[in-house]
Amino acid sequence: MNKTPMNPTATNKAVHKPFFLWRHLNKLRWVSLTIVFTMLVLIPFLHVYQTYLAAHTYDLLSGSEKQIYNSMEWLSSPFVTDPEDQLDALKGNTWSGTFGSLQLSDPLAVLGHLVSSQTFYWPFILTALIPVILTVFFGRFFCGWICPATFLYELNSNLGILLRKSGLHIGNRRFDRRLKYLVLAIGLAIAVATGSAAFAAIYPPAIIGREIYYAIALGGFGSGVVFFLLTLLFDLLLSRRGFCRYICPGGALYSLLGRFRLLRIKRIVESCNDCAKCTAVCEFGLDPLHDHFGQECNNCSACIAVCPTEAMTFYLSPQDIANQGPGHLGRQYKQQNTAFNPAEKMAGEN
Ligand code: SF4
Ligand code: SF4
Repeated sequence: MNKTPMNPTATNKAVHKPFFLWRHLNKLRWVSLTIVFTMLVLIPFLHVYQTYLAAHTYDLLSGSEKQIYNSMEWLSSPFVTDPEDQLDALKGNTWSGTFGSLQLSDPLAVLGHLVSSQTFYWPFILTALIPVILTVFFGRFFCGWICPATFLYELNSNLGILLRKSGLHIGNRRFDRRLKYLVLAIGLAIAVATGSAAFAAIYPPAIIGREIYYAIALGGFGSGVVFFLLTLLFDLLLSRRGFCRYICPGGALYSLLGRFRLLRIKRIVESCNDCAKCTAVCEFGLDPLHDHFGQECNNCSACIAVCPTEAMTFYLSPQDIANQGPGHLGRQYKQQNTAFNPAEKMAGEN
């Protein structure tokens, strides 16, 4: 139902302005993605350094290995006095890792372990507690703010825009979003049947963490690299950000957990001019212009940053607001309301 008031002069409410920082959150998000990616590269190097230290092999190292040793020693020395022991406090990746005294795991890792082992190992289950609580509050935030694949997928999307501008045909096909829930369900069924968490083989953040470790610590790549490159091609040639929208089992789990998230985005209809930039910028194919966010929104804030009239903001609610109709600064709203005001209509015609 269109809830638009038909005469704007009847509503003299002060127009709500979003908190000024919200417009800059998208830059902060890039800082967050860059830090996560840097840590994924740094941790294996620290691990290699720790191994050299434990083996007391400095004199036997090659030139490049000595460079790794020296750089990691320089980097870690301000923070640790006994690197051989203390660097154990920083291990793993976004799939499962140790950060000081905190152990964190991706909820998909815990779910996969739970159904494949069919045992409740509470110390491991509890490592997903903080991510689950954050998802219930912030929704699919992992996808927008943490996932190392997002870092590469968004660069890939930018490449797609450049290719399109240079005249190449880049597909933007849409599929049924429910496909990813099917992938999640099939993955769970395979985990029950085989006793192994099959998700990790097709889950981009797990693949990226694993492959970076292989490359740095073992000097090679596994088959995950091929799979990830295929997802990049899929996104580039067939469907913008298609893997995250339609296939990723982790994205499916985060969407379900964040279905009733408390932090949401809303359009301030009084400030909206219907330019549709918010809908165009949304990597996840949502439609902020028509107040359609749903459980897929990752609160990335890109739609807030791009809005020229400050008509997008955050608010707290367990559900989206219904379609508010056309923006009050847009042509459609003005035409509708001019039709109810003959004086304005005549002035417009003259
Ligand atoms: S959908 Fe999957 S790959 Fe995409 S951002 Fe979310 S967790 Fe990462
Ligand atoms: S609706 Fe806005 S905040 Fe949500 S995913 Fe799309 S651009 Fe990001």
